[in-house]
Amino acid sequence: MTPISGETLVAGVVGRPVRHSLSPLIHNAWLAASGIDGVYIALSPAEEAFPHLIEGLRGGSVCGLNITLPFKAAALAAADRVTDRAALAGAANLLLFSEDGGLLADNTDGVGLLGAFALQAPQFDPAAAPVAILGAGGAARGAAAAFSAAGAPAVRLVNRTRDRAQLIAQGLNQASGDDRVSVYGWQELGLALAGAGALVNATSLGLAGHDPLEIDLSGLSKQAAVMDMVYRPLHTPLLQSAAERGHPVVDGLAMLIAQAAPSFEAFFGRPPPPIDVRSLALAALKASR
Ligand code: NAP
Repeated sequence: MTPISGETLVAGVVGRPVRHSLSPLIHNAWLAASGIDGVYIALSPAEEAFPHLIEGLRGGSVCGLNITLPFKAAALAAADRVTDRAALAGAANLLLFSEDGGLLADNTDGVGLLGAFALQAPQFDPAAAPVAILGAGGAARGAAAAFSAAGAPAVRLVNRTRDRAQLIAQGLNQASGDDRVSVYGWQELGLALAGAGALVNATSLGLAGHDPLEIDLSGLSKQAAVMDMVYRPLHTPLLQSAAERGHPVVDGLAMLIAQAAPSFEAFFGRPPPPIDVRSLALAALKASR
């Protein structure tokens, strides 16, 4: 790491909990390799203190922040300007502070999602076939918005709580002026998988310490790509069974790194250097098991 100077640029990630975040490792490795006088820190305010933290940073003393759970919706609400993609996702994972006190909310999760597919399942074409997404939280909404913007002919949301998925579908269909986003109950999974070109797990099922994701993939075409946003563990049971069935698979770490790259460029004014941060992140994941 370059020494802290009087001009060190500061960026960071805000979440609660945040100590497990791989973002400081990734961004600080990129900073060191590019020789930028900058540092990337992790902040974990009490939930009610989040708006005060953000207001206090207006004016550009830090260039920007990545935002993770549970603050993505609050980050969107705190900003005075919001990009179209953040508005569509209903959440911000990136806040940029300017010297005049302004605050811009953006969302790079969709770029990260599509970037991960481009890297690990390059034959997948989001515009070619319907996409099935499990979940209706912030991650699922962001994924649905990204696939919809990328031209998916249909986006099928499958969620335990149907009403939650219905709200996302209404919002996105209203924004796009069509009815491409539709909703399926958990017991209608087979219908959602029929003819899909990709399946994405955007629930917290399968995450270490949570319930496992147990689904039947037999209705999914063998060409369909299978993605799991969960990356602890990296090779989730969903990805393992998909790989055994011969599906192209995409992991959550690829998404994490692909969403971090445009954030780095927004903070520090240039793209990240071409170093292997995936190996660093994999080693950190292994060490934390
Ligand atoms: P969230 O808002 O808390 O949503 C959680 C979702 O999981 C909801 O749809 C919920 O369904 C579903 N769920 C939870 N427990 C369930 C159960 N027992 N049975 C069926 N469904 C269940 O979380 P989020 O922010 O969307 O994040 C979802 C996942 O994506 C997390 O694992 C997160 O770590 C991951 N993620 C990864 C990346 C990355 O870069 N790789 C980025 C963002 C998020 P209900 O609506 O019915 O409660």
